[in-house]
Amino acid sequence: MFESLYRQLLLGVADFAPMAAFMKRQGFKLGVGRFIAGEDLDSALTAIHTLEQQNFRGILDLLGEFVASEAGANAMTAEILATLDRLEHEPLDKYMSVKPTQLGLGVSLDLALHNAHKVLARARAIGAHICLDMESAEYVDGTLALYRGLYTAGFGNLSTVLQSYLYRSMDDLKVLTALNPALTIRIVKGAYRESPKVAYPKKEDVDANYRAMFRYAFAHGACANIASHDDGIINDVESYLATQKVDPARVEFQLLYGVRLSLQKALRDRGHRVRIYVPYGHDWYGYFTRRLAERPANLMFVLRGLFR
Ligand SMILES: Cc1cc2nc3c(=O)[nH]c(=O)nc-3n(C[C@H](O)[C@H](O)[C@H](O)COP(=O)(O)OP(=O)(O)OC[C@H]3O[C@@H](n4cnc5c(N)ncnc54)[C@H](O)[C@@H]3O)c2cc1C
Repeated sequence: MFESLYRQLLLGVADFAPMAAFMKRQGFKLGVGRFIAGEDLDSALTAIHTLEQQNFRGILDLLGEFVASEAGANAMTAEILATLDRLEHEPLDKYMSVKPTQLGLGVSLDLALHNAHKVLARARAIGAHICLDMESAEYVDGTLALYRGLYTAGFGNLSTVLQSYLYRSMDDLKVLTALNPALTIRIVKGAYRESPKVAYPKKEDVDANYRAMFRYAFAHGACANIASHDDGIINDVESYLATQKVDPARVEFQLLYGVRLSLQKALRDRGHRVRIYVPYGHDWYGYFTRRLAERPANLMFVLRGLFR
């Protein structure tokens, strides 16, 4: 209960414009570098090379969300394409997460589809995988329509995300597993401030739905990307994998850059494929505040930095 209240409160305060302006002025002094690889692509690529040397894999994430104009979405798409051009020559496992509004979903589905085709085609040409991240609840229908459009156009180098805090997500999972027998799906709890009209307010319900969703995904042939730092959930996934003898190729653990490093190493050392989400870019504020909202200790870390 305390966790849900803290999370709602922090995300609410973070939306308050003077607070946002103050924090953005403070910049990396706040300790942003603990969760974000840097403001440029070079920093992110260096981080991913280091991760690969340690037997992890990376997910490149160009920060920027809730893009609301056509010009903004086209500029973001151009930057994503330039990133893929650069990735082509990097000896890395090539994997990028993209926010649907970066492609234009905040303007129209047609614009997002148009830009997404360009991104997916370029990614396919260089052997890269694209994951459509899930933003807040009003974009779920659009994101799933985008996924369907790209899947039916023949793009196999594609996955998306479902959030266990949304009441609808189990139904969405059923639709996606029926659509794509080789579905790859990232399951997360969900990071945005949502109304109880659409999302479970209590952590135990979010966790219970997470467990139901990963079981459904594995039982229906999907490859599941378990994107959580929750020991209880991870233990349950590991027990399920062992008892149901799930092919390890269908499982990947995904964690955030800078979060629970000992857990990241432990999963790797237990023989799992572990992929780390590596965000970079100037537009770090929304991502950073969501990380603060996930753990009161992270806020204390920032406050200590401010008064040092
Ligand atoms: C690879 C990846 C991709 C994601 N993509 C999306 C997406 O597309 N859309 C979306 O809505 N959300 C996304 N998320 C975020 C997700 O929804 C959760 O907000 C986040 O993962 C925290 O939930 P948890 O499952 O780790 O569980 P929690 O119950 O929040 O945490 C479990 C444990 O991990 C610790 N922990 C969690 N977060 C942090 C942190 N920031 N710092 C330190 N410790 C922490 C907690 O203290 C607790 O001990 C993604 C997460 C990951 C790992």
